[in-house]
Amino acid sequence: MQALLREKYRGVKIDAVVAVEMAALDFAERFGDVLWPGAAIVFHSVPARSVAARTLGPRTVGVPVRYDFGATLELALRLRSDARRIVVVAGTTDFDRGLLRLARAALDGRSAGRPVEYLVDLPLADTLAAVRNLPSDAIVLYLAMFQDGAGARHVPRNVITQLAAASRAPVFGVFETYLRDGIAAGVIASFSVQGRRAGELVARVLNGERPGGLGAEAPVAPACIADWRQLERWGIDERLLPGGCEVRFKELAAWDRYRWQILGALAIILGQATLIGSLLVQRQRRQRAELAVERHRVELAHAGRLATMGELTASIAHEVNQPLGAILANVDAADMLLEAGDARPGEVRQILADIRKDDLRASEVIRRLRELLTRHEMTREPLDANETVSEVLRLLAAEARRRGVELVEAFDATLPQILGDRVHLQQVLLNLVVNGMDAMAKTSPHLRRVLVRTSLRPDGDVEFTVSDRGQGIDLEHLPKLFGSFYTTKERGMGLGLSIARSIVEAHGGRIWAEAGGEGGATFRFTLPAAPRPAPAEQAA
Ligand code: ADP
Repeated sequence: MQALLREKYRGVKIDAVVAVEMAALDFAERFGDVLWPGAAIVFHSVPARSVAARTLGPRTVGVPVRYDFGATLELALRLRSDARRIVVVAGTTDFDRGLLRLARAALDGRSAGRPVEYLVDLPLADTLAAVRNLPSDAIVLYLAMFQDGAGARHVPRNVITQLAAASRAPVFGVFETYLRDGIAAGVIASFSVQGRRAGELVARVLNGERPGGLGAEAPVAPACIADWRQLERWGIDERLLPGGCEVRFKELAAWDRYRWQILGALAIILGQATLIGSLLVQRQRRQRAELAVERHRVELAHAGRLATMGELTASIAHEVNQPLGAILANVDAADMLLEAGDARPGEVRQILADIRKDDLRASEVIRRLRELLTRHEMTREPLDANETVSEVLRLLAAEARRRGVELVEAFDATLPQILGDRVHLQQVLLNLVVNGMDAMAKTSPHLRRVLVRTSLRPDGDVEFTVSDRGQGIDLEHLPKLFGSFYTTKERGMGLGLSIARSIVEAHGGRIWAEAGGEGGATFRFTLPAAPRPAPAEQAA
């Protein structure tokens, strides 16, 4: 070692040498003059007793340490008051045996009658086996093991890890490096404190203070340090520790560690829950409001139909009267034939067939009237657009005749079906056609004509167009037309177009007016085509 160091530091002036532990201090004091002439020797981690027992050289200065096995045993007994035996584990090097001597002296008289067992001269494997078989009411005091009883070399810090893992009883010790996965607690002189104080001495020496004037410092006092995870493992209550004992490796509960994050998350969750709650309430209210609106629309539409039909009473009466009159005439004719006594069965049957036909016609008119006059929830069914328009025109035929208006239909025969409510859609058409007829009051009689056209739009929707040759619409009135209560008629209510718009929009369509076309006004509305049935249904 001497030769190596001499070679290594040849030609280098050394001012201070730091000696760690007793063996290093011995070496430095013995060979320092040769290896590092004039250098100060600064030691630490040397037990105070050993320092006291020797005479330090003139250039030696340092920080002794106190290993307190007595206090460590007291701490162990405090944490394990029910312990019945004490086991001491140590190795066989001089250092190991030096600690053993210190420990023996300290334990003397402190074990309070408990047997003390020394596991010293065993191979490491046997030592581990021995602690594995300990009863749990034991205390293990681990000193150091640089070499085991079989002569195998070890690093004491690695031995404690195995020992602690194997042991059935908690292990205690005095070195800071044994903490973490090792000893449960100990009265420990911190290595970092020793190192810092030795460093301060080195600085003073380098700054020119004479080491001889400094002498040995006061020893570093040990203090209680515990490993929280080991306390947990052995079920040792942390509150048993003496006041001021430092607890390391404590796993903070999630709450301690993330208090603000948790509170923040809770606040956000709470906020969201409130928001979601209020949105749900709002949605419920909206649904209720929508239902109410739907109900009002149905009622309004019904009122609108009643009003329109009211306008048509004259022609409707005529519609019903005509077949009734024909029936009466046929009955009279049959009567006359029977009276004359030459009623041939064929003739009578013909008359009866005519009566049946007129009766059916009258009841058909009444059925349609009843449909339009009763209140009616909106339904959705596939409808033939042209057929739907035709029915309306048939219903209005008598009225048109009465007003001298020609109703003309121009149908696209290839239209797809639409999805909707027949009565409500017919109400829209009824309104548009009657409005058209109303608008032609001043048109000269031979020109009065309403054209109703159906067609397919490029976007696939079905379009209905109603054009007349009336007075037309002023451009400035276009925006107001579909609003409620806009009317220019003496006895109008101004509701027809607004109801028509709400019906068309409820069907997913659009309605608007244009000036021009047939010379008067043109109203158009569109409805989406019904989705095509799936191929299977088509085949069925
Ligand atoms: P009302 O028929 O009771 O007046 P509407 O909502 O059906 O209610 O019509 C509103 C107004 O729109 C009518 O008063 C009229 O001024 C105008 N209007 C509707 N259709 C036509 C049309 N074909 N030609 C000219 N003006 C029309």
